[in-house]
Amino acid sequence: MSGQHEQSGSGQAGALQRETRVNHPPRVELPPDNQPLTPPIYQSVKYEFGSVEETVRAVHGKRPGFFYSRSGNPTVRQLELLLADLQGRDDALACASGVNAVAQALFTLTSAGDHVLCFAETYGPTRQIIRRFLARFGVRHTLLSIEDLAGIERTLATVPTRLVFFESPTNPVTKVADIAAITRLAHVHGALAVLDNTFAGFHQHGEYDVDLFIHSLTKYAAGTGDVMGGVVIGRHELIQAMRPDWGLFGAQLDPHAAFLLMRGMKTYFLRYRAQCAAALELASFLAAQPGVERVRYPGLPTHPQAALARAQMREFGSVVTFDIAAGAEAARRFTEALQLFAIAASLGSTESLVLPPQMMQPRDATPEQLAWSDIRPGTVRLSIGLEDLGDLRADLAQALAVAAAPG
Ligand SMILES: *Cc1c(COP(=O)(O)O)cnc(C)c1O
Repeated sequence: MSGQHEQSGSGQAGALQRETRVNHPPRVELPPDNQPLTPPIYQSVKYEFGSVEETVRAVHGKRPGFFYSRSGNPTVRQLELLLADLQGRDDALACASGVNAVAQALFTLTSAGDHVLCFAETYGPTRQIIRRFLARFGVRHTLLSIEDLAGIERTLATVPTRLVFFESPTNPVTKVADIAAITRLAHVHGALAVLDNTFAGFHQHGEYDVDLFIHSLTKYAAGTGDVMGGVVIGRHELIQAMRPDWGLFGAQLDPHAAFLLMRGMKTYFLRYRAQCAAALELASFLAAQPGVERVRYPGLPTHPQAALARAQMREFGSVVTFDIAAGAEAARRFTEALQLFAIAASLGSTESLVLPPQMMQPRDATPEQLAWSDIRPGTVRLSIGLEDLGDLRADLAQALAVAAAPG
């Protein structure tokens, strides 16, 4: 039935030996009016053009097309365009992990002698890239608290700064960065505003004048915790300027991973909204429990920056952080008593997760920076999944009982 669409790859299959034919399999071409609903995975490293001249033109960027998957792959490109559109920008670069997106953005945008402004409340590996790697190549940094707007202004006014790298909401205590103020200060002083937007998701913060959004695709894009990826999203000119250096780290997103991430994105809004609704419910529940202090969820009216959160966000994410009043040992008992929350890193997956405070303490921080990060002995971070809300609530209740009454 399909025979009419099959064509030989070489046009002379009959004359060639089988050893040759297995390396030049027949092509199946789809008629232009007959397209797959699910995009194909372009699981190919190499792409050919009809002639040397066209190949050279493609390699020099003088014609569209793909040549080698380290510098571009159609499936990965489809994911980049999808994510750029959701974030309200027109271009993006994907790669193999969120950390790689952070590292490539920082290395691509900075040179020796540059200065970077970053924050104590930033993802640990991001701080390590800035302090350990960038410093080795002569890029200086200032590390402040994300709440210190006066310090941000002072630093930018006194030290010529290449970029400001920040997050919102922050991990783990969900501080909300004042995005409008920070981007304005950055631009007044000629710095780029780079926002790791992983916690807020692809559909939020796009209206702010952020130059580059970074996401770990491992979290809400994948959704099921089974594939890693990262992306940098921004306006075409900036992304184009980064493109020649992007990929030289060799951490390309695999086309199959890009396919899985696009599959995950089909349910992104449903998952994100369901997880946010459950997180708000459970945050309110926790706030009413004895032995629980300082529940932090940007959607709770008691969040210290509830008004800012409401002004900036429509949905508040799946991370809920709180303190067990009795301290570290009770927090450990609580964490281990949970049956449905896995003790694991990451967030935004369909299964609920819990991270004990011991695993969150930044090892490289000074006492002042530890105070900024606001992690207390009894701090517990939850990532809310898609399980039944009643089951999750019951699990939290029984674990709080264990925390309160050991043995
Ligand atoms: C997880 C995470 C990253 C790193 O992403 P990976 O995909 O795990 O490498 C970066 N930033 C934030 C805010 C994250 O939560």
